[in-house]
Amino acid sequence: MNIILLGPPGSGKGTQARRLVVSFGFLQISTGEILREAVISGNELGKKIKSTMDAGGLISDKLVLEVIRDRLEEPDCKRGVVFDGFPRTVAQAEALEDIKRAKGETIDIVIMLDVDDEALITRIEERATRAGVDEARSDDTVEILKHRLQAYRAWTAPIIPFYADRGILERVDGMKDIKEVGRTVNKIVDSFRSN
Ligand code: ADP
Repeated sequence: MNIILLGPPGSGKGTQARRLVVSFGFLQISTGEILREAVISGNELGKKIKSTMDAGGLISDKLVLEVIRDRLEEPDCKRGVVFDGFPRTVAQAEALEDIKRAKGETIDIVIMLDVDDEALITRIEERATRAGVDEARSDDTVEILKHRLQAYRAWTAPIIPFYADRGILERVDGMKDIKEVGRTVNKIVDSFRSN
């Protein structure tokens, strides 16, 4: 099974992806985490992407797709995958469709977490001020969040109609508390699996 969690930065994709891992045993693939690890390790990829990551811009489709193609070759993907933070452009969504089709698979559900902009800024401010917590990130400042939101609107939001056209988009109210959002997400996955 292949699930995509879609939503603006700070909408709770990572949190809900981790809940799906616990509930269903899926594998979580977060391109943001993979890219951040590359920056920390200082490898060749990390050096190329550091300044863009720090500024809250999108990494090129070419580099992200190289990372994803490699990751999807690993055998642990057979458990079912929850994609978090990928795809982020229509070109990435199209490429993912091709990669999956070549393996005889499809994207089964796309779960969109709807959260309004004001709430996102509050959440990021809170995340940024929780000093010492491992969740705190160098790109979690209000200024950079605004840039990430712009990138989301310009590049990622057009994915919503892409998946709506395929009849697999499920919208969830991401303004509810984490557990309630989690219950709704689980119901969506359960009902898909029982069909
Ligand atoms: P958030 O959704 O909270 O902004 P992520 O961890 O998903 O955080 O992404 C952090 C950063 O990693 C992005 O701002 C971007 O620079 C980069 N990134 C992650 N995934 C992608 C992707 N699929 N395409 C391009 N850039 C990406």
